Amino acid sequence: MPDPTWEKLRRDVIDAGLCTQCGSCVGLACGALAFRERKGVPLPVKTGQNTVPPEAYDACPALHCNYPSLNQFVFGTQPANWMSGVVRRSYVGHAADESVRRNGASGGAISALLIHLLETGRICGAVCLQMGKSVPYKAEPVIARTREEVLRCSQSIYSVTPVNTILGGLAQGEGPLAYVGLPDQVASIRKLQKSGHPSVANIKYILGPYMGTQMYFEAVRSFLRSHGVVSEEDIADLQYRAGEWPGYLQITLKNGRVLKAEKFYYNYLIPFFITRSSLQMVDFTNELTDISVGDAWSPTYERQRGGHSVILARSRAAEELLDDMERHKRLTLTRIPLDEALAMHGHMLDFKKRGSFIRMRWMRRAPEYGYAPAHIPFPRIAVEWCLRFVFSIGRCRSAQWLVEHLPISVVGFCFNRARVAWKSLSKPTKRKGLRTVKFTILS
Ligand SMILES: Cc1cc2nc3c(=O)[nH]c(=O)nc-3n(C[C@H](O)[C@H](O)[C@H](O)COP(=O)(O)OP(=O)(O)OC[C@H]3O[C@@H](n4cnc5c(N)ncnc54)[C@H](O)[C@@H]3O)c2cc1C
Repeated sequence: MPDPTWEKLRRDVIDAGLCTQCGSCVGLACGALAFRERKGVPLPVKTGQNTVPPEAYDACPALHCNYPSLNQFVFGTQPANWMSGVVRRSYVGHAADESVRRNGASGGAISALLIHLLETGRICGAVCLQMGKSVPYKAEPVIARTREEVLRCSQSIYSVTPVNTILGGLAQGEGPLAYVGLPDQVASIRKLQKSGHPSVANIKYILGPYMGTQMYFEAVRSFLRSHGVVSEEDIADLQYRAGEWPGYLQITLKNGRVLKAEKFYYNYLIPFFITRSSLQMVDFTNELTDISVGDAWSPTYERQRGGHSVILARSRAAEELLDDMERHKRLTLTRIPLDEALAMHGHMLDFKKRGSFIRMRWMRRAPEYGYAPAHIPFPRIAVEWCLRFVFSIGRCRSAQWLVEHLPISVVGFCFNRARVAWKSLSKPTKRKGLRTVKFTILS
């Protein structure tokens, strides 16, 4: 007999190409769904026993993700600025403990927050991603219960990793918990909280990184092939942000060989392996978290090195937590105006807050976010056509083959030059009117 919830998920989300791989449906389906490695989307497990429960569809953030209604539920208000979502205070900062800072992706702020929450007894565990727990090149969701376990989960994982597959085990576990996830994963948790689902009842604090673009794991395979390595099974250790901020991709092979590429060099993989969900999602700064954290991209901080995060406090609980951490010298914080925080990420905000809405017009079935820009000028749409061309070339196997056969130093260098040139060329159009974009609430 067909499973009605699975049929709906398949038709509305998976076959429509909208799945963001957040993992919620798998986590809630009691074994009836699983991710299949190469396909990367949830598929039924053929035991014939379990059916997919309706909440696995309701929690999915890919098609129905009404930000106005979720904002109202989480914060009791709508954002003053739709670029950032609801923000009460913004900061630049970093973990005061240098070892936590250096271990983190930007300033170690998320790890410092989790450690402080644990050490002050506000939580007894934190859902986050640990790299290499079972397989050296894969991350998996865990509940970190000590400082050491939190630090094992530091750093950014740039390949798709469905955190919410862990949901099935949370209801019976101990709480309260903190939860760290990307914008779609967080939106799904908020949808479940809104519906009072027991799987998320223990989650008290939600933190999350900004998310611009994410790549399929095939990007790592391609990088390996460029270095003459044929299988990911040769990997002994993989770090996406190793070393001094902003860090570099570092892959250590089982034979001891170490492959490295600077962050801005391995970004050349983005046009080839960017996920569809990065192109469709409109939330860059993780708007439904209590606290969200990104890299503080600004010449001032980049010159200082060491690692700096931009930190947005969205809820009252977040403000209290940050005040407490500042008082106890756990975080070094400098308050900055929201405009300054947003200016660090103008290109990515434009990519999401106008680009994604343009790209949605080209989709067979588009996600419903409950709001949209009132007007996007024609030159900005033209810029998006150029990007569409680049991404469609990047998806071709022949282009991927070609790039794997050119020396990585040349590809990385040329890509970085092209990126900088494109940024300055498109900047006038992309920035024009960005600050003053008006958004309309649709429902
Ligand atoms: C896919 C992705 C894209 C990003 N894009 C941008 C960007 O365009 N611009 C920008 O400024 N910042 C971006 N970030 C955020 C940035 O890389 C840092 O994660 C952020 O600044 C927090 O740094 P930190 O040192 O405070 O975090 P850390 O102290 O290093 O802690 C990071 C926490 O995030 C969790 N985490 C890491 N990766 C994932 C993941 N894939 N899914 C769920 N949880 C995860 C870890 O488990 C850990 O708890 C991105 C992050 C990711 C994962």
